[in-house]
Amino acid sequence: MSVVTLSQWIGGEPRAPSSGETLEDKNPATDEVIAQIPRGDGRDVQAAVEAARAALAGPWGRTSSGERADLLDRVADAIEARLDAWAELESQDTGKPVSLARAVDIPRAVSNFRFFAGAIRHSAEGFHPMAGAFNYTLRRPVGVVGLITPWNLPLYLLTWKTAPALAMGNAIVAKPSELTPRTAAALAELLTEVGLPAGAFNLVHGLGPEVGEPLVAHPDVRAISFTGGTATGARVAATAAPHFKKVSLELGGKNPTLVFADCDLEKTLEGVTRAAFANQGQICLCGSRILVEESLHDRFVEGLVERTRALKLGDPSDPATTTGSLVSLGHREKVEGYVALAQEEGGTIRCGGERPELPAPFDRGAFLEPTVITGLAPGCRTEQEEIFGPVVTVHPFRDEAEALQIANGVRYGLASSVWTRDLDRAHRVAAALDVGMVWVNTWLLRDLRVPFGGVKESGVGREGGRYSLEFFSESKNVCIKLSD
Ligand code: NDP
Repeated sequence: MSVVTLSQWIGGEPRAPSSGETLEDKNPATDEVIAQIPRGDGRDVQAAVEAARAALAGPWGRTSSGERADLLDRVADAIEARLDAWAELESQDTGKPVSLARAVDIPRAVSNFRFFAGAIRHSAEGFHPMAGAFNYTLRRPVGVVGLITPWNLPLYLLTWKTAPALAMGNAIVAKPSELTPRTAAALAELLTEVGLPAGAFNLVHGLGPEVGEPLVAHPDVRAISFTGGTATGARVAATAAPHFKKVSLELGGKNPTLVFADCDLEKTLEGVTRAAFANQGQICLCGSRILVEESLHDRFVEGLVERTRALKLGDPSDPATTTGSLVSLGHREKVEGYVALAQEEGGTIRCGGERPELPAPFDRGAFLEPTVITGLAPGCRTEQEEIFGPVVTVHPFRDEAEALQIANGVRYGLASSVWTRDLDRAHRVAAALDVGMVWVNTWLLRDLRVPFGGVKESGVGREGGRYSLEFFSESKNVCIKLSD
């Protein structure tokens, strides 16, 4: 495979990094270098912010919401036309099955642009009449906004921020994870191709401390939308705070899956297995702590192990593959560290936990067998810390109260799923869970209008629908006094 060289995208054109240095981008399924990417630094961030400011001062700053909606629709059409090629890029960068990238990652990027095009076409602003006066509310872009995204759903999450930010007329400086830069680079080029004015979207590749940090610290960047780990999120919040920036933080999770004995077992097993291992367990919403009512526990574990063993690991480009590689060899080591820790903490590995035997070139890839662990105490590190890989723990509970106590007994509070046929219980448990999102008898069923985000150490703020549009805008009230 030929190795491509990516550029920064600043002011509507490719640019070499100020450092003159590059970083290697590898396909984690084979450990082959597939791209050289710019090693950006504060100088590139400075140039990108200047380009963004110039865009806001130029024609981009004067576009109407209707013009921006039309532009977003053109972006959606153009991504859709590239679906197969971009699914391959995403699969090669992340190690995920190309079938998943084709079914989820790239179509969702298309939907993100179409959704926010529709949202601003149909949005209305406030009007508040009062005695002798009236008020109307204007929405203005925040200005230059910084978007920082992780490696697990690269284009999906970048476009989830880019679409509403452009919809509201902001100018963007984006920093993707250096592990998965290729669809971001393709998007930057495409945006220019479909007519986005120069400087409205700038992309700076590089490392978190060298590019992300100066972006968050830059005084002219007025909002930061960040998705990533909780420790990085804390650093982003601390750096942004003295500048009084708007900050949206979508962070980690240790999501509980609550299975009650009255569930539809077959459908629950299917849903819980998907929630556990989709994208190799590398989705912030994955249900990694499975809590099962005592009377069903053993039968459930048997079914889960059977389904987990049936997952097909291997070549991500094979349409039959359900489970690809982890994002990097380094990340696999971290996940394997947790499998070892689980054993030290008294857990039993019911299946998986090993590196699979695969033919070359996948024998060099970051594959790990999906792993089910039982027998751990809810307070141990394996049950408390985010693993972000294909590793789940299963734990029995006596009754609803104990299930909730275990479910809420972590520092995270992102998402949860509840599996039961008892409607009263579903409502009761959903209300009592300390999380931002609950699914009942399903998982990751998304309506882009609903609030997305977590509580506790899973983040601050919400994305989706009007929540994103509000984040990426400032409202300004105008009060007009009528003559007597
Ligand atoms: P990281 O927090 O390591 O990185 C996220 C992004 O932040 C990357 O682009 C990273 O760059 C950048 N970054 C790193 N250090 C800094 C810094 N000091 N200042 C600014 N930016 C910085 O997360 P991962 O990429 O490892 O992604 C996995 C994490 O993301 C998991 O914890 C997962 O739960 C979370 N996540 C949360 C979601 C949610 O919606 N709540 C959705 C998806 C993932 P670099 O790659 O160069 O280090």
